[in-house]
Parts: sequence; C-alpha cells; structure tokens
Amino acid sequence: MRFPCMLCAPFLLLACSTKPPPTSESCTAQSGLSRMAPMTVEAWEFEVGPGGQPTLQGLPIVGMDAAPFRFGGIEYPGQWAFVAAGRRCGTPSPPAAVMRQVEREMRAFRAAPGAEAFVAEGFAVVVPVWFHIITCGGQGDVSAAVIQEQMRVLNAAFGDTGVSFSLAGVNRRENGSWYGMGYGSREEREAKAALGKDPRRNLNVYIANPPGNLLGWATFPWNLSADPARDGVVLLNSALPGGSAPYNLGATGVHEVGHWLGLYHTFEGGCSEPNDEVEDTPPEAGPRHGCPGQTDSCPLPGEDNIENYMSYVNDACMNLFTPGQVIRLRRMITLFRTDLGAANRFGASRAYLPSVR
Ligand SMILES: [Zn+2]
Repeated sequence: MRFPCMLCAPFLLLACSTKPPPTSESCTAQSGLSRMAPMTVEAWEFEVGPGGQPTLQGLPIVGMDAAPFRFGGIEYPGQWAFVAAGRRCGTPSPPAAVMRQVEREMRAFRAAPGAEAFVAEGFAVVVPVWFHIITCGGQGDVSAAVIQEQMRVLNAAFGDTGVSFSLAGVNRRENGSWYGMGYGSREEREAKAALGKDPRRNLNVYIANPPGNLLGWATFPWNLSADPARDGVVLLNSALPGGSAPYNLGATGVHEVGHWLGLYHTFEGGCSEPNDEVEDTPPEAGPRHGCPGQTDSCPLPGEDNIENYMSYVNDACMNLFTPGQVIRLRRMITLFRTDLGAANRFGASRAYLPSVR
C-alpha cells in the first residue's frame, strides 16, 4: 500500500527531530513483516495432503489464489504461504479458568430479573472511537478518507447489533519504536499509555506496523478493569480499507472490535464444546482462510460458519454476525463496558472484576 504522506515525509523530518531521522529502510527493518522470513515460523501445522493439496491444521486450503502473493512488501509463493507463516490475529484465547469465570458471570447476569429483556429489546450504544496513527519517518500515515471508510465499514457490519460508532478524533504520532510494536511488547504498552483516551468511555484504535504477519489484535471487555491502559484494538496499517488485498476492505477492524466486545473466534476450542460460547456458530476444527466452500469440519452438528466476521476468511467473504453473537456482545457491554453508555442496572455491581484477567 502506498500512503499519501510518504510524499511529504522529507518535510516532516525537517520539522520534527533532533536525532537522525528514520529512513524508509530503517522503518522497514523495524517492521516484523520484513524481519520474518516467510515459511520459517511454524505457527501453523502446514502440510501437503493427498494429491498435493496443501492443508493447514488438517483442513484443505481452498479459495486462495495460487498466484504469488504480495503483502507488506514481501512476496510469498501464494496466500497459503502468508497464512502459514503467521497467526493473522494476535488476540489470544484466554486461560481456561478465565473463560470459565467469564461464563459464570454471564450466567449470573442472565439470571437477573429483566436482564435478558434489556439486551434483547431496544439496545442502543454509541461508541466514540479514537484513531491513533503511528508513523515512522512519515511511513504508515493514513488519510482521513481511509479512516472515514473504516468507520463506515464498522457501522455497516454492526448495523443490526444495536452498537454504532462515532469518530471522536484522529491522533497522529511519529515514533519509530512504537511503529513496529509487537503483541504484549513494551512498545505497545508505552504507545497506549501515551496516546489512549479514557478507555472506559472510548474505543482506542492504534494503527501501526506490528510483526509476525499479524493483522491486528484486541483486548477483551473483562480485561478493562484490571488493565485499562492496555484496552483497545491494534491494526496493521495495510489491513485498513484500501490496504493490501485480500485484507483491504476493513474487515480486520470489524473482527478485532468483535473481540473487544467479547466475541471469540468461531473456531475457538476446535470441535470441543463449549467452543466460542455462542450457540448458533457451529463448531469448527480450525480457522478457515481464503474464501472456502461450505464444509462441516466437526462431528457436532452444523456447517462451518465460513462467512462470519470472527473467522479468518478474506475480507470480501466476511459478512455476518449471528443473532447469538449479537446477544453475547450486548451482554458483554452491559456487564463489562458499562461506561460506554448502556445505562442499566445490571452491570454496575459487576462491572469491574479484578479477578477476571
Ligand atoms: Zn481474532
């Protein structure tokens, strides 16, 4: 992706720094995409199945272009090689004990008189969104038009959920270290501490150039009380609208905001219950990539939810949240993100649970 402000980088550099300014090469060197040689990281179990068909975690890779695949300035033999070299989404599954505790809280919430009616009818929350665009020598800048398009995509995707998003502000910061922030890194923490706007009342979206073929990651709602400074979503700058195909339609932002509102991947837990804790997303053996055909990868009933925003398919093939996911994210807001404005009498007493990490 070419960023418009690359053209003005020399002028920015004249204006901003007493130390030697970063060059295009040094920014690229800080990017994890360039640090990582394709096919050397065995994050996924990649194999060649019968008949030469490539498979990931036992599932055939279908719907991905066999043509050479270029992403983040690196050429791969195909999209499957990009997928095999990284993890795509850095949002981890919480420890099992935390998942159990979250579900206990959810069950208690659901048992409270009137709680389910509250999330089922007339639920409406407007989330203010701050974008923090981190650049290195002017690289990685994002235009106002791209931000507007990301907002439009978010609002379209969450249109039926009762959650909408309003742009609160755009903040640009030149910092070569933060630009290459990794998941859980000191740079991530520093950037968020310096830039984040009241995480209890805002969604903070940090746009940078993280390593490891990660398109982004998010914190979960139940992490807010114990670690508010870390709250928010991080997005790879080339996974925004207009970025690098096939992750160039803004769906990464939707996916990560889904996590931020308490949704797991649709393949969480593989074929074992309780999977992603949502009844109408059938179990999946593992993540699906590309634009796969319909399959049923688990013995438990139901075909794989291959068009879900919480899967790993290409942006063009993601297009839905299920009703069960909608109810879950409303419960999550009511319980854990009470200051977003879902004025209610259910979340206040349980909103901040220091033991839930
Ligand atoms: Zn994810």
